[in-house]
Amino acid sequence: MARLVCPVCRTVIADGSDPEPGECPGCLCRYAGDGDSAPDAVAGALADWGFSELDPGAVTAALFALPPGSGPAARAAVVSDEREGFYRWWVFAPAGDEGRDVLARLVSEM
Ligand SMILES: [Zn+2]
Repeated sequence: MARLVCPVCRTVIADGSDPEPGECPGCLCRYAGDGDSAPDAVAGALADWGFSELDPGAVTAALFALPPGSGPAARAAVVSDEREGFYRWWVFAPAGDEGRDVLARLVSEM
């Protein structure tokens, strides 16, 4: 039993079944990670998306440090899902090269 809500548009992506990496049906951003921790999720998502030039540690720090809701931070986020007793972490970002640009801008604005 898990519940995952898109942090960008608030669409409920999973409610009951375990989320699988994919695309938000509400805003079409991609999400991936499924990590034990936020850094795990960021490293996994960057690998899945082929963004090997981005440093997972720097992206994780930027996602937590920058206030949400403006600039590139409005388009990407790392969030936990909700489960009984534990949770797993997911990264949301725009699909394709736009996602790479948004994450790179996040790091550069730190
Ligand atoms: Zn969404």
